[in-house]
Amino acid sequence: MLKFLSRHISKIGVIGAGQMGTGIAIVTSNSAKLPVILFDSNPVQAQKSESFLQDWLQKKLKKNEISDPDNFKSRISYSSDLSKVSECDFVIEAISEDFSAKSSLFSKLSPYLTQTTILASNTSSISITKLAGISKHPENVIGMHFMNPVPVMTLVEVIKGLQTSPETLKSTLDLSKKMGKVCTESLDRPGFIANRVLMPYINEAIQVLNEGIATKEDIDSTMKLGTNVPMGPLQLADFIGLDTCLSIMRVLHSEIGDSKYRPSTLLVNYVNAGWLGKKSGKGFYEYKKN
Ligand code: NAD
Repeated sequence: MLKFLSRHISKIGVIGAGQMGTGIAIVTSNSAKLPVILFDSNPVQAQKSESFLQDWLQKKLKKNEISDPDNFKSRISYSSDLSKVSECDFVIEAISEDFSAKSSLFSKLSPYLTQTTILASNTSSISITKLAGISKHPENVIGMHFMNPVPVMTLVEVIKGLQTSPETLKSTLDLSKKMGKVCTESLDRPGFIANRVLMPYINEAIQVLNEGIATKEDIDSTMKLGTNVPMGPLQLADFIGLDTCLSIMRVLHSEIGDSKYRPSTLLVNYVNAGWLGKKSGKGFYEYKKN
């Protein structure tokens, strides 16, 4: 069997400083001990990310779970200047779950990527082959699907596009391991493994609520106590972000074509109302705005 070499990785770029991007930066610095630049086009989001990072660090310090707080912080920097991507040899895209936004970003990144820069997408459902098709070096594009919250959840689902090279795959598996993660591999199919299974479950729970079959509390308690999961599907949907859930359902519905993946009208209405879950302060439940 051929052995493929892993590329040397010395600096990571994470694009999108939302809940996922911030978590990825935390594990890059804390576990892989690598410097990381977090990019966000929205300065308000970058500020939110910095205060989340600060809170996370305080909690870890209190529990005595971080040995080098100064180095942890100094390894993480923020920027809105995409040209700084040229300093990074591994870039992880974690912007909103929207193909046109991701494809426009991939085009903007092209001038700053070398022949060997790996470009991983944290997409929950969008085809890696399609994203790679927009990139200057499709062989360097891969899916690296972290779970939320990234510092807590061990899994990274790795997705090879048709064009992904064995070196890109090996480097991604090795970096994930350095970040303290365990990988599974999926074919490049809509929703991969995790969201092909999870999202129809969440969508069905929203439909049960929509049909008035039970209250949100009873739906969540039934699934939590009945299937031994840490949170019920509606609470989980709020936690993921209802906009993200809707985007994933739309990808499953349009790409697979089966009506069983049609997003619940209640989910569509909540997103139209701007009720996006925990991140907007209201979803199926109410949250203190951060
Ligand atoms: P989020 O809404 O919390 O964050 C997205 C961030 O991207 C925002 O800060 C936004 O300002 C920024 N952004 C948008 N367009 C940008 C651009 N062109 N350049 C730079 N920054 C830009 O979303 P999230 O929950 O962190 O999700 C991000 C990605 O991770 C999505 O693809 C999502 O499907 C995936 N994902 C989400 C979860 C989850 O549970 N939320 C889990 C796994 C994967």
